Amino acid sequence: MTLLEVENLTVTYPGGAAAVRGVDLSLAAGRKLGVAGESGCGKSTLALALLRLLPAGTRTGGRVLLDGEDVLTMRWGRLRAVRWAGASIVFQGAMHSLNPVHRVGDQIAEPVLLHRRETPAGARRRAGELLEQVGLPAARASAYPHQLSGGQRQRVMIAMALACAPRLIVADEPTTALDVMVQAQILRLIERLVAEQDLGLIMISHDLAVLADTCDRLAVMYAGRVVEEGPARAVYEDARHPYARALSAAFPRIGDPASRFAPRGLPGDPPDPSAVPPGCAFHPRCPVALERCGTDDQPLRRAAPDRRAACVHVDAAATAPAEDRGNPGSAS
Ligand code: ADP
Ligand code: MG
Repeated sequence: MTLLEVENLTVTYPGGAAAVRGVDLSLAAGRKLGVAGESGCGKSTLALALLRLLPAGTRTGGRVLLDGEDVLTMRWGRLRAVRWAGASIVFQGAMHSLNPVHRVGDQIAEPVLLHRRETPAGARRRAGELLEQVGLPAARASAYPHQLSGGQRQRVMIAMALACAPRLIVADEPTTALDVMVQAQILRLIERLVAEQDLGLIMISHDLAVLADTCDRLAVMYAGRVVEEGPARAVYEDARHPYARALSAAFPRIGDPASRFAPRGLPGDPPDPSAVPPGCAFHPRCPVALERCGTDDQPLRRAAPDRRAACVHVDAAATAPAEDRGNPGSAS
């Protein structure tokens, strides 16, 4: 069974912001899916929806199947268990997620005590092991968050996410707040842990280059929808959707600090989710938009073997001889 299947997921915040508008994704154990898109495209909303962590009053539709069980409708007791042992999440900016008045070792040990029926001594031992797995000495367990660097704190967050041996890790901009050298170390760490423990990984970033370097597949989101999806390298080097192309041109180098927050060559902003333009939501910014792009919805369609893109120009391109190198990976 597929580890994670997201089917036609929609999320509408109280107040009417349609932040996710019909997303389909699938992830097998041991695979790494990158989710890219500018700020405001709905990436974090998607991440929160996967663990049902959205604010009260938010409406969701569709299904989020984790090992076949729908996270969106499961009972509260089951959801609590799933949040640690099934899937866990690593957020950006670890300083805000760690409790400043507790030692990091105790914070790692807490879920182990609660969810794994460990003794206090066993949980402390496990916290030390987890710290070593993420490249910190076990003795750092006695440190408080402010005594650690940003990169060390993010390592602690990863140790916490691994504490109950989850099957899926959702990492939302896990390295965005870090400088480039530390960013690369944390990415290598996440890659190693995912490979060693056969985890599924969903890694979210606005930086397509980082995702292309780390993930097997890439999904590019715009205005709450996936507009392109396929093998990571192919999407990064030869995007089929004009938005994905603009995004990959904006991140020519991995971790380039200059392009971090404002993609170059892409004027304007993503739409406000309470006023998404009709037709293709990207058409007001699109350099190759046709008249019908302003009126007709553009669903995802096959762009090449194992690739999908939601652009009117893809139809013409797909009938041309296949020049795509393709990828022996699984079809979606
Ligand atoms: P991303 O992670 O891609 O930057 P988000 O998922 O954080 O995007 O946000 C998507 C849209 O949803 C944004 O327009 C944002 O303003 C809106 N949004 C996020 N959180 C809330 C909330 N709690 N209430 C209302 N709107 C929200
Ligand atoms: Mg976000």
